[in-house]
Amino acid sequence: MADLSIAAITKRFGDTPVLKGVSLDVADGEFVSLVGPSGCGKSTLLRIIAGLEAPTAGRVSLGAVDVTAMRAADRNLSMVFQSYALYPHLSVAENIAVPLRMRALTSLQRLPFVGRIMPGAKARIQGIAEQVARAADMLEIGALLDRKPGQLSGGQRQRVALGRALVRDPAAFLLDEPLSNLDAKLRVQTRAEIAELHRRLAATFIYVTHDQVEAMTMSDRIAVMMGGEILQCASPEIIYEDPDDMRVAEFIGSPK
Ligand code: ADP
Ligand code: MG
Repeated sequence: MADLSIAAITKRFGDTPVLKGVSLDVADGEFVSLVGPSGCGKSTLLRIIAGLEAPTAGRVSLGAVDVTAMRAADRNLSMVFQSYALYPHLSVAENIAVPLRMRALTSLQRLPFVGRIMPGAKARIQGIAEQVARAADMLEIGALLDRKPGQLSGGQRQRVALGRALVRDPAAFLLDEPLSNLDAKLRVQTRAEIAELHRRLAATFIYVTHDQVEAMTMSDRIAVMMGGEILQCASPEIIYEDPDDMRVAEFIGSPK
């Protein structure tokens, strides 16, 4: 695990500036929510942290390592999307195993004699099955491992997506509105499960949501974004009771 640091990130799509110099330091194990109106740049920022999008300028660091130029697969960060992004033709177990198989493949490709020796290949495959089972147990989807995503409810699918994020033991979890496709009851339940996951793993979470209640109840700190900038990043109490910007107060709906 490592501290995550975002320094002076800017992003333009053509002539349109979408991020205008965003800086944020997230401590190891911290749960930071990113809130703000639709289109303010939350997903873009998260994708840049994940390495799915390159910034126009600025730096992303994990601990002492500058990862700005590093491929997404090498950053050891897990991203969870609103739309689950599961492979429909793969079973739950296979979906959860995808990051481990990709990692195994990458390390095999780096070996000089691939195809001739395959050292420890069998042990590695058994290791993958065990890790998948552990992640599935933690999310209580152990009984669903042989099913296909099409045979699951929305809540179960999102757990599979969480399992796939969990299985690689990432330095940080990046979640982009993971509950917004769920109905109200499931949302409350899954929210509690994510909070529990954070508590048990003591991992770093950056959690994008447009739901203030979610942000208020789950976060160590809330970063309020608007128009491509972070206006304030502070504890839920301070954001609510002592917003230092009129726009933060208006967005949160608190008196100022
Ligand atoms: P949020 O997640 O806060 O709703 P996004 O980060 O998705 O906001 O988008 C921020 C802005 O950047 C929006 O105006 C959106 O239209 C624009 N945008 C996002 N991705 C692209 C892209 N690939 N090309 C052009 N514009 C984009
Ligand atoms: Mg978004």
